[in-house]
Amino acid sequence: MDPKLHQEMLKAISDKLTGVMQMYLDTCSRCGICASACHVYASVPEFENTPVYRAESIRKIYKKYFKLQGKLLPMIGEAVDIDDNTADMLKKTAYSCTGCRRCMVYCPFGIDTQQIMSIAKLLLIKAESEPEILSMLADVSISKGDSLDSVKENFLKGLKKIEADVVEKWKLEAGKVAIPTEVENADILYVALAGAHSIVPAAAIFNAAGENWTLSFFEAVNFGAFVGDPSKTKLILDRIINEAIRLKVKEVCICECGTAYRVMAQLSGDKPFKVSSITQVHARYIREGRIKLKPLPADVSVTYHDPCQIARNGGVIDEPRYIIGQIAKDYREMSPDPKTNWCCGGGGGLVALGDETIDFRMKSSKVKADQVKKSRAKILITACENCHTQLDNLNEHYKLGVEVKFLSSMVADALIK
Ligand code: SF4
Ligand code: SF4
Repeated sequence: MDPKLHQEMLKAISDKLTGVMQMYLDTCSRCGICASACHVYASVPEFENTPVYRAESIRKIYKKYFKLQGKLLPMIGEAVDIDDNTADMLKKTAYSCTGCRRCMVYCPFGIDTQQIMSIAKLLLIKAESEPEILSMLADVSISKGDSLDSVKENFLKGLKKIEADVVEKWKLEAGKVAIPTEVENADILYVALAGAHSIVPAAAIFNAAGENWTLSFFEAVNFGAFVGDPSKTKLILDRIINEAIRLKVKEVCICECGTAYRVMAQLSGDKPFKVSSITQVHARYIREGRIKLKPLPADVSVTYHDPCQIARNGGVIDEPRYIIGQIAKDYREMSPDPKTNWCCGGGGGLVALGDETIDFRMKSSKVKADQVKKSRAKILITACENCHTQLDNLNEHYKLGVEVKFLSSMVADALIK
């Protein structure tokens, strides 16, 4: 292996070795409790699919270069070298983990395999072996931030085309703008995904609530986080933070995208605005009487899939259930404890990799499909774009016979005066 690359990979590990990370790497007792907590192992019970196997891929390198025993007696410490095979091995472990952190809930030491896999992803970037498409998408997002003026015109033209769809869901008072942009001192900056489905229902609900809001020019999705590149993650995040500061908004509301929400809420440091998920904002509107919803017919059964980054990792658990309680009379919980709801199997960049991962995604998420089937619900609601795509794929693959819907579109369709 090229010695320079070898050194760079070692430095990448060293930079990640915070006290907490060292605890994760030093503490594992190999009890194996985490195995059945992982949807991949629960669906395909092979040792390679356990969290502990994934973590060992990094732990063995850590032992070799950062622990005395591994340096002196590598065979005893099960230490391994970084060599030309390392990238292939890490690709298998890092990109078979969705970062759902369900294993962490069950681990007696709270070991966060997703964090350990962040080292694997970083090493892949150093070795230029990360999924190229994720890095390219991250670069496109960053370049959009650098040349906003050149994309603004087309963006605004695109918004004009969907204004009528917004008004169809909620009629505006004379003089009001259906999708406002560049509003200084707005109470909310809404950060959507590319596509009308992420803007139209949200806009109708903001307008129905009489919100003083403005739409961000940037998409919420953070491909830097999917590929595990901290500097790209920050650059993508900074575009939105800078826009929020420039417009002096009070709150940034992130659309139905789990990773975008968790990155903005937990990784953006101190900021002069509040961060909310769109689900939290909708629950607030209902509680404050700012919007009213018409319930579905009593015989329409619904269930809710908790996006891992919004629920288990983001703490937004009660709000979607409160909203659904306003819409549906027949709600069916999939897991006795929503914190341990199964991952959909599409996170960590796997859905963004499309057909390349479809076979793995379907096999590794059988437990999720079984959970949905067991609910016997007609509508499967979720609040994350990735989850929605993956659940749609599962619906087709396992013939679940459900209708997969975004929570925000259910709210927009239920709006009443
Ligand atoms: S549950 Fe925790 S301690 Fe046990 S094997 Fe898994 S990561 Fe290690
Ligand atoms: S974070 Fe999720 S996918 Fe990754 S090892 Fe843990 S349970 Fe499995």
